[in-house]
Formats: sequence, structure tokens, C-alpha cells
Amino acid sequence: MSRIFSGIQPSGELHIGNYLGAVKNWVALQDQFESFFCVVNYHAIIAPYAREELERRTHEMAVGLLASGLDPARCTIFVQSQVPEHTELAWIFNTVTPLGELERQTQYKDKASRQEQVMAGLLNYPVLQAADILLYRADIVPVGEDQVQHLELSRVVARNWNSRFSPATPYFPEPQPRLTATRRIVGLDGQAKMSKSIGNTVGLLETPEQIWDKLRGAVTDPTRQRKTDAGEPERCATIYQLHRAFSPAETVAEVEENCRGAKWGCIDCKKSLHQHMVAELTPIRERAAELASAPSQVTALLDAGAQKARAVAQETIGAVKDLMGLPRAV
Ligand code: SF4
Repeated sequence: MSRIFSGIQPSGELHIGNYLGAVKNWVALQDQFESFFCVVNYHAIIAPYAREELERRTHEMAVGLLASGLDPARCTIFVQSQVPEHTELAWIFNTVTPLGELERQTQYKDKASRQEQVMAGLLNYPVLQAADILLYRADIVPVGEDQVQHLELSRVVARNWNSRFSPATPYFPEPQPRLTATRRIVGLDGQAKMSKSIGNTVGLLETPEQIWDKLRGAVTDPTRQRKTDAGEPERCATIYQLHRAFSPAETVAEVEENCRGAKWGCIDCKKSLHQHMVAELTPIRERAAELASAPSQVTALLDAGAQKARAVAQETIGAVKDLMGLPRAV
């Protein structure tokens, strides 16, 4: 069975952008591949943070993933810092990664240009990402479009390391991207990608009332001023996209017809979406509430996941050290 690896930053409670852009896909993939899903807290510490908040966010993220349907019996779910081989392999990969490859990463250039003092961790972030993936010798990485360049760097790292230390029989596979079907979820403002920092999201665990409050104010087709104006779903980035993600095909067809034919007002359309969102998200919210009331159970699941991941990670690091002439840990 092929292996997949994917990671998510511990940003606290999931929002529907994370859910549709990544996690829902992971839930489907866990039965098709040997799957490793990781809360990448080492990636989160490259920016200043408060200790208690990071701990809380890491736990909340794990709750969200488990509540969304990641099942520790069908996949390995764990927290990155509990498997020290991630940073060990990252150091090794630093020695085969040209500086120029890191400096031309778009995300690095973008973030570094907005910071007075740039930390080395920001530059080396994609090397740790390569280590995350290659530690499990993953064949496939589910990614959004914005991560494709980083994945390409992981392929370069694998190639460089293989050509130096295992040229005859490449030890590391060159991981392939698997783009998620719902690639970029537009926020409630109808403009930017859904992001907690912009405040244009719907939380995955929000109540039906909170969801409705958010949907009611969401931007729709800007050319549609009145109910009698014909609309164009493709110009309604948020609501139409969410219908396609949450509603059955017959409802999506109904939206298209009623929008173009001016038979529905946008509030009617949003009410229909709300109904389908609530149907899908209520069981997740209920599971999350159960898990949140039993934090030691979540911790135990993560500890067990880390042990499972570590068994694979130690095997990889051992083989890597053998091939590099480095004694194994004792
Ligand atoms: Fe968007 Fe629906 Fe209004 Fe059309 S009817 S503009 S799809 S909210």
C-alpha cells in the first residue's frame, strides 16, 4: 500500500477552509493509503508565540482532526515534536540543500520581505517539511496549490540525498503531489482565501446559529442588487463554492437554475446552504464536544500515534545513518 503524509499547523479550532481544503480529503484517503497525519508544531514556532496558547491550539487541532473523522485505528495521527527524528533528518537534509533553492521559495520571499529580522527557521522551513514527508518515505502528499513549490523542494532534497548516498538504489521516493479537489476556499468577504487571521471564516465547530450569522452577511454576486436581478453563481465565489462542497448535486443544480433565473433571493440560497452545512457539521461538533470533555483520552491517542510514527521514523533514521557512515543512536 502506498504511503501518504500530510501536516497541519496547530492553529487551534479548524475552520471550514481547513476542513474542505485538507481534512475532509484526508478522512477519505485514510482508507486508500497507509496514512500519516501530523500536527506540525515545530513549524508553528518559527514565529513568536505564547507557550500556553500553543499547547491549547495543538490540543484543539487534534480534537478537530479526530472529530472530523480521522480514526487512529485507520491512520497514524500524531504531534511532530513527539517524534524527534523529524528535526534530526532536517539537519541531515540541510547538508544537501543548496541555499539558493531555499532563498527562491515564494513563501520565504513574501514573509521575509515583511519582517525586520528574519530567523533562520523561516528559511529552513521547507527543509523540515521535506524531513516530515521523507521520514515516512511517503509516496504521495495531499497538498493545496500554495504548497506545490515546497513539495518540489522535497523532491529536490530526496534526489540530492539519493544521488550522494544511495545512487544505485534510491532510498527515498520522490513524493508526488495530490491536489485536493476543493483547492482554495474563498472567505465570506468573497475575496481572499479563507483565513482565521483575516476573520473571513466559519469555524468548524460553530453552532447552527453562529453559522447562520456568518452566512447571512457573506458577500454574493455583486451585480445582483435585487431578488429580481438574474445572478451568476460563478461570480458568487463563497456561497456557490460552499454549496458545491456541502450540498448534494441536485441542490447545486437548483442553485444554478434559481440564481440565473432570479427565482431565489440570496437569503433563500443561503438558507438552503445552511441546512446542508448544519447536517454535515453537527455530528463533527458533537464528537468534538465529547473529545474536549476528555482531554486525557485525546492525549493518550496522540501518544499512541507518536509511538506508531516513531517506529517508522527510527527505522528510516537508522538506515540513513548507516548509508552516511554515522553511528546510530544507542
Ligand atoms: Fe450566490 Fe445563491 Fe445569490 Fe446566486 S442566489 S448570487 S449563488 S447566494
